Amino acid sequence: MNVTSETAALLERLGVAKADFSGGDLIVRSPVTGEQIGALTSISPAEAGKAIERADKAFKAWRNVPAPKRGELVRLLGEELRAAKTDLGRLVSIEVGKIPSEGLGEVQEMIDICDFAVGLSRQLYGLTIATERPGHRMMETWHPLGVVGVISAFNFPVAVWSWNAALAFVCGNAVVWKPSEKTPLTALACDAIFKRAAARFGADAPENLSQVLIGDRAVGEVLVDHPKVPLVSATGSTRMGRDVGPRLAKRFARAILELGGNNAGIVCPTANLDMALRAIAFGAMGTAGQRCTTMRRLFVHDSVYDALVPRLKKAYESVSVGSPLETSALVGPLIDKAAFDGMQKALKEAAGHGGKVTGGTRVDNGHDGAFYVKPALVEMPGQVGPVLEETFAPILYVMKYSDFDAVLDAHNAVGAGLSSSIFTLDLQEAERFLSVEGSDCGIANVNIGTSGAEIGGAFGGEKETGGGRESGSDAWRAYMRRATNTVNYSKALPLAQGVSFDI
Ligand code: NAD
Repeated sequence: MNVTSETAALLERLGVAKADFSGGDLIVRSPVTGEQIGALTSISPAEAGKAIERADKAFKAWRNVPAPKRGELVRLLGEELRAAKTDLGRLVSIEVGKIPSEGLGEVQEMIDICDFAVGLSRQLYGLTIATERPGHRMMETWHPLGVVGVISAFNFPVAVWSWNAALAFVCGNAVVWKPSEKTPLTALACDAIFKRAAARFGADAPENLSQVLIGDRAVGEVLVDHPKVPLVSATGSTRMGRDVGPRLAKRFARAILELGGNNAGIVCPTANLDMALRAIAFGAMGTAGQRCTTMRRLFVHDSVYDALVPRLKKAYESVSVGSPLETSALVGPLIDKAAFDGMQKALKEAAGHGGKVTGGTRVDNGHDGAFYVKPALVEMPGQVGPVLEETFAPILYVMKYSDFDAVLDAHNAVGAGLSSSIFTLDLQEAERFLSVEGSDCGIANVNIGTSGAEIGGAFGGEKETGGGRESGSDAWRAYMRRATNTVNYSKALPLAQGVSFDI
């Protein structure tokens, strides 16, 4: 099989012109084989600025289209995504190395958020609030915000755009997207899919309502610094967020920061170990450990440690690693050599701190430029060194605990605060984990793993994960601005708080 020609055929079927992915400066390689699959042309910072100006113009037209009608555009986008699901899912597998069910699952997530946003387009509610002044009415109105900048990471190359874009569009905004420089091909495909939906929607969808800017962080920085971008939703490493957050704050722009995770599970004495085993295996090894919600730390009660950990090690030893395009392997490749090197460095450091490593070695698949590894399970004497950091690779650090209060403290003793889970049939333990003194993460689960969130809930995390929320629940509010309106329908002018000012 030739990955390069298959990619070209997929892109063509998805509606991307050949000139858009050949002959440019930005080289894209498939992590599946290491082969070059595209050469795109990066946009200059000056051109990126012009694209934002065009988006602002589109916003000024789009904001006047009624919200339920805006929902119709997103409904059409969902239809186009349904039609493109097989091809786009396959392209995700080629560009990121996800196994087929995860590639398709990512596109399903896009379809789900479109459905959610269509319903939302009739539910952008404000409150009516009791006023202390007679003959007055007080209410809230939610207005569109403007141009929403989206910066996305390589590991969810299409879903993250849709979480933001579907909501942003029904809320009346224009979207300018800077995808990861590692995964721009799937972004071009999304752009072509959106354009088909917009063409079916008709003239009310202004030109440049949705744009994709190809390039590296320098292009992202234009979005971050541009005065006509009131909100930037940035997904990526905590390192990226440390730069982006203060820059947005400096110009009082809004930020939705979706940054790194260092997610943990706790296995308690009463846990259903069969269930825990499966949940941990998917959470820690799935997507080759390259999910922000990947389980990276595991605390196991000493009474069940010997019943669980040897079984878990067996699962690590036997898990199939290989090409997601040609085999039914459960673990695909790492994104690139830097990810492999980062993993080896962390494993070496862990061993230096007394960690006992199972797995972690490179798996040869016949391509020098592709990096496959056996997922690593590391039994650690304590939470030290690399355990405290996110290494974006399949490493699970396993630690024993004996005291529930102490394990809650250890659970929360890292910088990130994205996802967490507890395995227990003890109601008090489960409730305490979900309570104010329990997990400090944005996602806290009972008897399921840390990854695989549904779009209906708000997604995001605390502390060094950045505090942003996307997707379901009331995350839409971040994409709109709220005005409090007071209307006086009386003939008097009473002032609030009993203040008098008679002239
Ligand atoms: P990355 O930080 O290297 O890059 C992410 C994006 O930010 C890219 O598009 C990049 O070009 C851009 N970027 C980097 N520095 C920038 C800057 N200073 N200004 C503007 N743009 C900048 O991340 P990655 O390696 O692509 O992705 C992996 C990371 O993303 C992991 O840390 C993972 O946990 C995190 N992630 C978080 C979530 C979440 O929802 N919390 C979801 C997916 C991935």
